[in-house]
Amino acid sequence: MNVLILGNGLSGKSAYSYLKNKGINTKFAKEDDINGSTILNEKEYLDRLFSGLSFIVTSPGIDRENKIIVEAEKRNIPVIGELELGLISTKGNVIAVTGTNGKTTTVSLINYILAGQERKVFLGGNIGTPVTSFANKTQNEDIVVLECSSYQLEKIEKMHAHVAVILNITPDHLSRHKTMQNYITAKFNICKNQTENDFLLLNADSEILMKYAPKTNARVYYFSTKHKVVGCYIKNGCIYFNDNQKQKKLVSIQNIKLIGEHNLSNILASCLAVYLETGSTEILKRVSDFHGVEHRIEYVQAVGGISFYNDSKATNIASTLVALKSFKTKINLILGGSEKGYDFDELFANLTPNVAQIAVFGQTKPKIIYSAKKFEFKNIYSCDTLKSCTKLLFNLAKPGEIVLLSPACASFDHFKNFEERGSVFKKIVREIAESETDEPQIKKETQV
Ligand code: ADP
Repeated sequence: MNVLILGNGLSGKSAYSYLKNKGINTKFAKEDDINGSTILNEKEYLDRLFSGLSFIVTSPGIDRENKIIVEAEKRNIPVIGELELGLISTKGNVIAVTGTNGKTTTVSLINYILAGQERKVFLGGNIGTPVTSFANKTQNEDIVVLECSSYQLEKIEKMHAHVAVILNITPDHLSRHKTMQNYITAKFNICKNQTENDFLLLNADSEILMKYAPKTNARVYYFSTKHKVVGCYIKNGCIYFNDNQKQKKLVSIQNIKLIGEHNLSNILASCLAVYLETGSTEILKRVSDFHGVEHRIEYVQAVGGISFYNDSKATNIASTLVALKSFKTKINLILGGSEKGYDFDELFANLTPNVAQIAVFGQTKPKIIYSAKKFEFKNIYSCDTLKSCTKLLFNLAKPGEIVLLSPACASFDHFKNFEERGSVFKKIVREIAESETDEPQIKKETQV
């Protein structure tokens, strides 16, 4: 058997070891072949590439319109994603989570709650642990919690989730999926092979989800922060489960640490998934001890009464707006980063009144300042670096206020990724805490 792997990142490398360990002859496609800069159109070359090939494994980052995939499909050579490859030998019940936003938070919370019971839990998928890296270690009684991106779900054939969760769907990744319908269809693949013994959990507050709810054989439950639904909802600071006949109090959420309504939605989804999988209410109490995931509205520390929050994962406008809505106090906001092709009108049109001032840096700085002026937001400062933004806002902020990094942009202009940006921010905050005697950074010429 010969297998070709497309993509030699985390999941490609993991798929390679997985197949090699099974004694399968496996090789990586060359970068140049994948991006089409070699002689792909020459029949002789293609014949050699596909000669004796049993199947192809793709990484999530490889577009399905990639020439090698298109050609393989023409020649009836199966193409399988790394996630599905791993699932072939995965045992145990799968809890799979997808959605435009909140996947990592939700799977991390589900994993955290499940750590309070006996069954072994594996967490993987889009969160950065490829399924092929642990598939062979799973047993029938285990629980496998999977974060699934639309790229991973695009061409699902056999994946079977015992509990499938769709958190929300808003327009995203359209450059890859081309149409909103394709994006929705990819997300709905999460329940493709579910039976009447399985559960599909849907966010009743998501208009798109309710409008296009997928056809399924599974038992469907809902979660909502706004209404009583069949499934989970909130009443008097507690989560209730309603099975259409009776209501059951599952857990109090008075002492949860996560901030924001969007996280209530993630909490409801997590509690519903865990309750349906385990039937236990006792372990749900763990929800109050969960402090969230790094770089997502993460509390860093307070200096001189000013609290710093790291929301470096907010790489688009929707995420930044979600963060702004999560605070009642005055916000001193850091914006800016690398270019993604959109303007910032939507951000300033919906800016919450608690934004006191904004410091902006990075490639998108001119566009952000342009939109700010258009919407007559005056307290905006131009800086060169994340450090100067942070120091400036620390000096401008009053005790009781917060300084929030929620940049509404990707990070690649100044950093390797959003994780590095968040870590650098936290380091800057620690430096500020250590030397509160620094000269104030406000320079007249920075205000724009
Ligand atoms: P994902 O893994 O889907 O990217 P994360 O859990 O990493 O999601 O959260 C990323 C950002 O998305 C958060 O910082 C927050 O701004 C936003 N977010 C999280 N959960 C939700 C939700 N349920 N609805 C809307 N936005 C959310």
